[in-house]
Amino acid sequence: MYFYKSIYPLKDILIVGAGSTGLSSALFLSEAGYKPRIIEKRGTISSITKALGVNPNTLQLLEPSGITKRFLQNGYVLNCFNFWHYGKLLYRNDLSKVKHAYPFMLVQPQCDTENIIEEALLERNISVERNTELISIESQDTVTKLSLRKNAGTTEDLNIKGLVIGADGNKSKNDELNPEIVYADYPRECCRKSADAKPQHHETRGKHLRHN
Ligand SMILES: Cc1cc2nc3c(=O)[nH]c(=O)nc-3n(C[C@H](O)[C@H](O)[C@H](O)COP(=O)(O)OP(=O)(O)OC[C@H]3O[C@@H](n4cnc5c(N)ncnc54)[C@H](O)[C@@H]3O)c2cc1C
Repeated sequence: MYFYKSIYPLKDILIVGAGSTGLSSALFLSEAGYKPRIIEKRGTISSITKALGVNPNTLQLLEPSGITKRFLQNGYVLNCFNFWHYGKLLYRNDLSKVKHAYPFMLVQPQCDTENIIEEALLERNISVERNTELISIESQDTVTKLSLRKNAGTTEDLNIKGLVIGADGNKSKNDELNPEIVYADYPRECCRKSADAKPQHHETRGKHLRHN
């Protein structure tokens, strides 16, 4: 995810990509009183299930918007999961013991997640402009200049004076157009457990995208 910002206040907001990141950004912005424009290159929501598990913290974050209630009506509560290896139980993760308002994972296909958020945005008069692809982006002093390609082959040139939120996934246009982009490392911890080894905690590095 990347941000281009120029002049505040943020009246003029463009979100590129209507995946879970772009849709959630639009939702949080609408909760704060903004009405972002969202563009998406795909004509429809992808039916391929990627994310299946909605995390407890996500459920908590989405609670004030009413989305969590809709998710809970739609998905399946997963309290516990077990890892087996040739009949031997390797690991049992009992989520019900987690001290959290939502001590479980919610199992829900990503297309349902996106459909539910998109529906809630429509109720707030925010619709996704589909078949609209960002093809170029350039940051200047007071504006961000963008070019969009529409389904019919037409293009639209835009000057955004507020904020551009790049939520266009792991094949981001921004990476392609700005190979010099600065990333900032941050430490994070992960845990690995294999059939033969004891659990090991590792310090590894994550990446934040920084654009000033
Ligand atoms: C197999 C698999 C399983 C996963 N399981 C989980 C899980 O259980 N739980 C979990 O939390 N996460 C899971 N993930 C990760 C999760 O799918 C991603 O974190 C999530 O999709 C990221 O959302 P996003 O909105 O950032 O990107 P994306 O979902 O990739 O959305 C980006 C959107 O931007 C659009 N776009 C791209 N370029 C442009 C452009 N130039 N102009 C306009 N639009 C554009 C794309 O069409 C797309 O709709 C899984 C991923 C995979 C692959």
